[in-house]
Order: sequence, then structure tokens, then C-alpha cells
Amino acid sequence: MKNKITILIIASIATLIALSAIQAYLVENAYQLKKRAFIQETDDAISDIDNHPELDSLVDVLGEDLRINLGDYQNKRITKAEVIRNLRIKGDSVNPAYMKRYNKELKAINLGYKIRYKREVTSIVVYDGQENDTIFPLPSQQNGIILGEDFQDKNSHVVKSSRTFTEFDFVAQENDSVFTKTVDVELKTRDVILITDWKSIVFRRMATLLIFSVLLFLFVVGLLYYSIKTLINQKKITEIKTDFINNITHELKTPLATLSVASKSLKNKEIRNSAEAFDHTLNIVDRQNTRLQKLIDQVLTNSLSANDIVLSKDAVVDNEFFNDLIADFKLSTQQRELSIINNVCSQEVLLRIDTFHFTTAVFNILENAVKYGNDQTEIIIETSLKGNEYIINISDNGQGIAAEDQSQIFEKFYRVSHGNVHNVKGLGLGLYYTSQIVNAHQGEITVQSELEKGTTFIITIPIN
Ligand code: ADP
Repeated sequence: MKNKITILIIASIATLIALSAIQAYLVENAYQLKKRAFIQETDDAISDIDNHPELDSLVDVLGEDLRINLGDYQNKRITKAEVIRNLRIKGDSVNPAYMKRYNKELKAINLGYKIRYKREVTSIVVYDGQENDTIFPLPSQQNGIILGEDFQDKNSHVVKSSRTFTEFDFVAQENDSVFTKTVDVELKTRDVILITDWKSIVFRRMATLLIFSVLLFLFVVGLLYYSIKTLINQKKITEIKTDFINNITHELKTPLATLSVASKSLKNKEIRNSAEAFDHTLNIVDRQNTRLQKLIDQVLTNSLSANDIVLSKDAVVDNEFFNDLIADFKLSTQQRELSIINNVCSQEVLLRIDTFHFTTAVFNILENAVKYGNDQTEIIIETSLKGNEYIINISDNGQGIAAEDQSQIFEKFYRVSHGNVHNVKGLGLGLYYTSQIVNAHQGEITVQSELEKGTTFIITIPIN
């Protein structure tokens, strides 16, 4: 059974981990899809902005500047680096107007979140009919020519790449002859945007899914925890009940066996003819009968819960009550080496208790002190008054109760087992009954104990 539960727990935890991994994978997939959809949505929304005539005309200003500079370069009046430098200067002068217009258009489409935009020239190649001449980028030039905001961010992405071929005419001078020369210019550009807080936007869009996933996960963990706990409790209850049945069967066996022997004896003529032997056997029958009756009473009475117990309270003076109780207990127990130290408080406190039930409750504790004590049992009964509370401490020097058992000893049928062996007879009902009686008196009972040192039961009851 224990093995089965362990296997079940391991299997459940493994399944939970597998399910969590699948769920994490699905959430990650959903995240990627949402991210892609969001970026696509942004790209679609801004795709028309750069077609605005004003932006186009500003780009044309740059194009015209490039045409003039390339003419100068072809006439060897300036170098490639100067072409680019001039283009960059022109770009910088056009940029404020370009940015202003772009941001105005961006505002008009009302995205609801911020983006940064730039248009980069990535390559300029001139083809003069014979060979390609790369103007940009040269190995020494890293930064492109930019319109828009200048930013570098790994989260930015290219919205659009374009490659255009344009015929540039310019006046060329060679050996005093002047003529118009045409070159093909290949221009590559790309539009890059950065959505500054895209992560939080995507997460916000996934919030329902995330919250639902987390709640579902917590619910499954809770369900699993509850199921396993119930299973372990059920197992414990089954064990406790089996224990109880074993104990009671054991307790019943001896008187029944004795009764069987006695009834056989009574059939014997010799015994019937001897009045002495007959009486002796009848006494045995009587004693065993009483023993069986007691056992059944013990099960019936001690199984009562606080709600079933009807108290009939009397007013008693505490030290009188405890003196009588201790005297009765000493009489009833056969343990010779027993010392009971009576430290009942000196003030005479009037207690309102059901003397019959309360005596049995305290008796149970005292009997346990003897049952689970050593050869020289010493019990100390100490009482004190604290405000409205009357506190009774009953300590012994016995074997003690392990910490993990202390919270369970007041449960019905619970017995501390040493392996699978119970050395001392009992039904696991004594402390249950005691706690129910204390509860019925609106009091409480706790235990403090240390193995091999002893145990103290503390009963607190209200006195008014
Ligand atoms: P029972 O004595 O019939 O087993 P109880 O309900 O009286 O049942 O006690 C429950 C368990 O608590 C006992 O099995 C015993 O192991 C433990 N116990 C109770 N009192 C003491 C004590 N004074 N010292 C050590 N163990 C105790």
C-alpha cells in the first residue's frame, strides 16, 4: 500500500511536470504568434506613411543632391568619401523636416504605442556601361546614411527593403570636350522600426491566457495535493481501524477462552459434586463476564464525542476532588512502585465539572502514565489558577511521546506503534475520550513530551 502510494505520488508529480512543460511550450508558441501578429499589425499600419508626398519630395531633394555629387565624382572633382559626406550633410539638413512630417503622420494613424523609425541607405553602386563602381559602403564606412532617428537596437526590425535603378545624366568634361554622360545608379535602402515597449504590449495581450494558465496550474497542483493528502489520511484511518480490530479481538480472546474452559468445567460431574469447585468456577465466569462488560462499556463510553456527552455538572472544591481521585487511583492500580505527588494549588478553587466524566478523563491520563512508564513511575499533579482559567498539569517520567505523534494521540483509535508492535494493551480511545470530556467542559488539552524523559498533559478549563 505504502509503495503504491509512493508510486502514485511520483507518477502524479512526473505527469504534472510533463503537463507543465507542454503548457509552457504552448504558452511560448502563443507568445511567438502574438508577437509576430503584433509586429505585422504595426508594419501594416505604418506601411503607407512613407508614401506621403511631402516625405517623397524630401527624399527627392536627397536624390537630386546625390545626382549632382555623383556628377562631380565622375568628373573627378570629388572622391567617393566626399560624395557620401555631402549626402550625409544634406540628409542632416533635410532630417528635421522629414522627422516632423513622419511623426505627424504617425500621430494621425493613432497606433496607441510609440515607435522609432529610420530609413537607411545600405548601398550605392554606379554602373557606367563597363564596370560597377561601389560608392557606398566602403570598408572605412560603417554608418549608413540615415533619415529619421538614429538608433541601434537588437529588437528593431526591417519593415521594408527597396532596391532602385535610376539613370543619372550629367555633363562630363574630357580633354576639352563637353558631353552628356548617363550612368545607372543602384540604390539600396531599408526602413527599420523599433517598437519601444513591444514586450509589455504582447504580454498585456496575452494576460488572459497567462492568468488562466497559472490558475489552471495552481488548481491542478491543489487538486493533486488534496487527493494525495486524502489518500494518505484514508490509508492511516484504515491502518488505525485494522489496529483497533486487532486490539479488541486480542482483548476479547482471553475472557472468552476462560469462559469456554469454565463452561466445560461446569459440565464435569466432579466439579458439580464439589460445592467449592463449583463456586470457584462460577466466580471465574462472573469475573470474565464483568471483564467483557467493562471492555464493551469502555468502547461505548470512550467512543463518545464531545457533542454526544451530556454533562451533569457539580460544584466541587479542587483539592478535595484531586485528593479523592488520587486515593481511588492508587487503590485501583496494581503498580507497587508508584508515587503520585499532589501539588494541587493551596487556594481552594470551586470547580464546576461533571465529576464522573472528569474523573474518568484524568484516570485515563494517570493510567497511561503507569502503562507507558518505567518500573518506578512518578506522577506529579500540579494545578494553578490564571485569571479565569484553571490549569491542571499531569507529568510523568515515562517513555515520552515522539514529536510527530504528539498531535495525533488525541485522535480516535490512534496508538503510537513501535514498528508494527504494540507492547502495551490498549484501544487508542483513552486520550480521545479525555480530550472530548475536556472539550465538553469548554476547555483544552495539550501535551508536552520528550522521548525517554517523560510527558506532561496540560488541561485548561474555565472556572466561571
Ligand atoms: P491507548 O493507551 O489505549 O493506546 P490512548 O488514547 O490512551 O490509547 O493513548 C494513545 C497513545 O498515546 C498510546 O498508544 C501511547 O503510545 C501514547 N501515550 C499516551 N500517554 C502516554 C504517556 N504518558 N507516555 C507515553 N506515551 C503515552
